Amino acid sequence: MFDNKEKTDLEHLGEFGLIAHITKAVELTEKSTLKGIGDDAAVLDFSGKKTLVSTDLLLEGVHFDLRYVPLKHLGYKAVQVNLSDIYAMNGIASQVTFSIGLSSRFPLEAVEELYAGVLLACNAYNVDLVGGDTSTSQQGLIISVTSIGHAKEADIAYRHGAQEGDLVCVSGDLGGAYIGLQLLEREKRIFLENPNIQPDLEGKDYIIERQLKPEARKDIVQLLADIGIKPTAMIDISDGLASEILHICEASGKGCRLYEEKIPIDPMTYDTAREFGIDPTICALNGGEDYELLFTVSQADYDKIKSQPDISIIGHITEQAAGCELISKSGNVHPITAQGWNAFAKPQV
Ligand code: ADP
Ligand code: MG
Repeated sequence: MFDNKEKTDLEHLGEFGLIAHITKAVELTEKSTLKGIGDDAAVLDFSGKKTLVSTDLLLEGVHFDLRYVPLKHLGYKAVQVNLSDIYAMNGIASQVTFSIGLSSRFPLEAVEELYAGVLLACNAYNVDLVGGDTSTSQQGLIISVTSIGHAKEADIAYRHGAQEGDLVCVSGDLGGAYIGLQLLEREKRIFLENPNIQPDLEGKDYIIERQLKPEARKDIVQLLADIGIKPTAMIDISDGLASEILHICEASGKGCRLYEEKIPIDPMTYDTAREFGIDPTICALNGGEDYELLFTVSQADYDKIKSQPDISIIGHITEQAAGCELISKSGNVHPITAQGWNAFAKPQV
């Protein structure tokens, strides 16, 4: 993977040398960071606001495949995915810690690439890297990211707040990250069978980017604040729309009705799904990794939300006894299950 480049063995540098090397580019910009890297713990001050904390663990071979994920993208995505959880609480992220376990196959240059992505994400989202831990791993790359953020108590959007009659909204579009992954997996198989064939990803930038370089929706949190809406419930879409709406409904003790025709799907996602013989709606429902925000708002906020170009209203909350249902384009009613939509797959056209 790093064959064409110069390699520096980590053994010569040692743990402290490595930490010093990778953290020398870190700049602190958040006023809530009183102390970052360099002591036993970081010191933060949110002056009266509530503190939000979220952690992810990412294992090579389980959560990522370095055969097609560049390390810089991996660092970027690992941070984005974790920040997304803070935004999903309607909070603002301000710090991250980033911990790594490295097997002996990783030279210094690999770690530099990874951290280039980490710092790019931190800078783009105004988040300080305030710590981490560094260790060797017996096998493969291990990453753990913790995000820390803040919100006023009254602004925090839990999963449990959805009320009957609320509108179900989603940001951006869905299914792209999943179909981008299918494309990368296909090209990987072709490459492994014949290494002389170069990957053919022409014209597929958007869905590849959705998979490799997701952007957490800090802008939506900002937008909702600007237009004076507090979501009654919110979650980020990491596992697919179906699974996430079920989480909101279950936590809130409610049901829902979603409309297939309202689910936002980008044309490239739609066309590529069709090429693969997959129903685009299934990509949106069960695909995952889109990192859009799924939230509910009171009907009273309809006028404020209806004209937002990057937000789609896809249904409404019902009483729990009505269940969680999807109305298909042809008007059929399907129960929403975390993975069950496949059973109702429509004929491909
Ligand atoms: P300790 O022995 O207390 O765990 P370390 O020597 O591991 O301390 O870390 C020293 C400092 O460097 C701490 O501020 C820690 O948060 C930071 N640090 C260690 N590893 C990383 C890393 N991979 N990324 C960012 N900061 C790190
Ligand atoms: Mg340590």
